[in-house]
Amino acid sequence: MVLVLDQTPVSGPATAAPLPTLAGLGREGLAEALAAIGVPEKQRRMRVGQLWTWIYAHGVTSFDAMTDVSKELRGRLAAAYSLARPEIVTEQVSVDGTRKWLLRLPRRGHEARAPEIETVYIPESDRGTLCISSQVGCTLTCSFCHTGTQRLVRNLEVSEIVGQILLARDRIADWPGAGTDGIADAHLLPSTERKITNIVLMGMGEPLYNFENVRDAMAVASDDAGLALSKRRITLSTSGVVPNIGRWGEEAGTMLAISLHATNDALRDVLVPINKKYPIAELLDACRNYPGLSNARRITFEYVMLKGVNDSLADARALVRLLAGIPAKINLIPFNPWPGSPYECSEWEQIERFAEVVNRAGYASPVRTPRGRDILAACGQLKSESVKLRARDRAGAAEAEGR
Ligand code: SAH
Ligand code: SF4
Repeated sequence: MVLVLDQTPVSGPATAAPLPTLAGLGREGLAEALAAIGVPEKQRRMRVGQLWTWIYAHGVTSFDAMTDVSKELRGRLAAAYSLARPEIVTEQVSVDGTRKWLLRLPRRGHEARAPEIETVYIPESDRGTLCISSQVGCTLTCSFCHTGTQRLVRNLEVSEIVGQILLARDRIADWPGAGTDGIADAHLLPSTERKITNIVLMGMGEPLYNFENVRDAMAVASDDAGLALSKRRITLSTSGVVPNIGRWGEEAGTMLAISLHATNDALRDVLVPINKKYPIAELLDACRNYPGLSNARRITFEYVMLKGVNDSLADARALVRLLAGIPAKINLIPFNPWPGSPYECSEWEQIERFAEVVNRAGYASPVRTPRGRDILAACGQLKSESVKLRARDRAGAAEAEGR
């Protein structure tokens, strides 16, 4: 049953050729933008610092608000750039307070239509987690994942990744001094000072296949002078792109989650086909060598509970054996069904029995409570209509032409 409480088209279709946005750029990108409008090199560092504070610490959406920037420069900035966030197509609020935004990105030259992505916000009493996308669709085809059925349209730019955070902070009034008046279901937001306390790269796409952009975006997100999200509160989830795991630890240093989902290669080959390229033993070696790994900085192993497929107690014992010696957390994820999905979620009692085996082995194994299922916002349910709409457009065009 779909229980959409509030599905609001927030803004209309994009107007022709909008100005490029500065919101979401890194320091280098901002410096280049300043150079392009003739700001002398010796001033650029200082100007980047000013922009940074206004964009990322205050969240301003207009150059006029930048009171320590001269009026003349503000005018030049406004003539060449905007501070726009990704365009919101729809905003849905689940009965449990989970919010999902369908976002439309600027169309690139070769793209037939503007690609769309999803971003999800999950409030809890003591924290607020923003789940962001790294790609439009995914090149991988995990058999239980809705995103995997959508072919890759493209990698997201740095500004499109950071833009998801800015937009979410706008929509839930998470900038200093912002009140929550007029925010739907504000009582479901966490009681913490900041509404977004954690970021997980668990939306659409395989983040380690968009390595540089995701890395640079997380550098913006964790910069102390701006968004200031601690790297210990940022988690990248990967299906197991082994050659990029150690590199991610060195260059980005966030927390890591691994989509394991099976304890033997034969089954993992089916569930997570990248396993054929990088089998479990290689994946776990990369985990053992993850920079900064310690008992205080454990790797999370995600394990989706599929009825009759990977949820036996023998599987639970095999999981525990497999992870022996790795500082690990185990996250059991009830399977979230989607239209046409070939699996069922394990029975609740079976999940509990499985969790007990894992707990007895010394792992705290929180079962991830499905959130936002009513709005298809839960893990693995994200899939934008980019591809489907194309088909619909074609049908529409055929109809218009009387074919
Ligand atoms: N591509 C990355 C990150 C995005 S998926 C990865 O695979 O890790 C985020 C998490 O949701 C992964 O652990 C993924 O395996 C899980 N997931 C995908 N589809 C799911 C579904 N239908 N139900 C529950 N979890 C799912
Ligand atoms: Fe891609 Fe992750 Fe889905 Fe696999 S689980 S298809 S890697 S998004």
